[in-house]
Amino acid sequence: MKLGFIGLGNMGKPMARNLLKAGNELTVFDISVEALAEFKALGATVATSPAETASNVELVITMLPDSPHVEEVLAGPKGVFEGARKGTLIIDMSSISPLVTKKMAKMAALNGLKLIDAPVTGGVAGAEKGQLGIMVGASPEDLEEAKPIFDILGKFVHVGDVGTGQTAKMCNQVVVGLSLCAIAEAFTLGKKAGIDPTVLHRVLSSGSARSWAMEVRVPQVLEGNFEPGFMINLQHKDMGIALDSGKGLNVPLPLTALAQQVFESARAMGLGTKDHSAVIQVYEMITGAKVHKDSK
Ligand code: NAD
Repeated sequence: MKLGFIGLGNMGKPMARNLLKAGNELTVFDISVEALAEFKALGATVATSPAETASNVELVITMLPDSPHVEEVLAGPKGVFEGARKGTLIIDMSSISPLVTKKMAKMAALNGLKLIDAPVTGGVAGAEKGQLGIMVGASPEDLEEAKPIFDILGKFVHVGDVGTGQTAKMCNQVVVGLSLCAIAEAFTLGKKAGIDPTVLHRVLSSGSARSWAMEVRVPQVLEGNFEPGFMINLQHKDMGIALDSGKGLNVPLPLTALAQQVFESARAMGLGTKDHSAVIQVYEMITGAKVHKDSK
């Protein structure tokens, strides 16, 4: 297929590479010239705007940081809505507010276009292996059109109508954010009480405390590797989306609110662009118990 891909960051790059490898023709756009040069070398066509990206393709995929970026790329000047041919399907795979998704889908329809949401889970490793978990909000017809793309990138669950993919994703992020805070508390407590963090990891990985964060992130923490992965800034953003939705729906989320403040503390320490597992450094600073390798 002829595809447009916008947003070649930590996730977008491996996803776009897999789409190329599968034999699709790609036109790409990003504000990073380095990312564009990398994809030109791989055989992709480089566009100069989102509108140009969308102008000669059957389907457009966006993988951008947050709601304002998606709004700008789709509905802003030289945006996708301006350039896309009538009937084009847009798959937004970024994690953004479900309300913004619904607003963008309405605007797309007014422009004769179709938009669905398909945020992902599984991190950079999942993106590289083509093993993302994809949460889809779409009509059955639009889903059918998007399926060949999802089959390359991972496995999908059809959650419901447009916006519901984002709703599932924010629930996912509540669990991930709280898990990382729980891990940070448990490991600083264990270290302060005199247990080797590596031994504690072996114990907690073998019983009821098992989780994705325990399996994937803790070994990276123990190695002192805080390169993203998934940035603290993005985790903080996702918990903000959940808190806003909770407000709108009158659902109290006290632990999410607390955990978001811990991630805010990490941002205040200058860790915003580090991996979300770097939240442990907030606890290390408070307690003086160093869990990660580089510090004693
Ligand atoms: P990233 O910051 O690494 O990449 C975002 C890319 O978008 C960058 O290359 C940036 O230059 C580009 N961009 C920003 N504004 C733009 C604009 N106006 N026009 C064109 N390009 C623009 O972020 P990421 O880690 O790849 O995450 C992307 C999305 O996926 C986010 O919503 C994130 O929450 C979600 N997500 C990330 C992970 C992960 O592990 N990193 C996992 C699941 C979901």
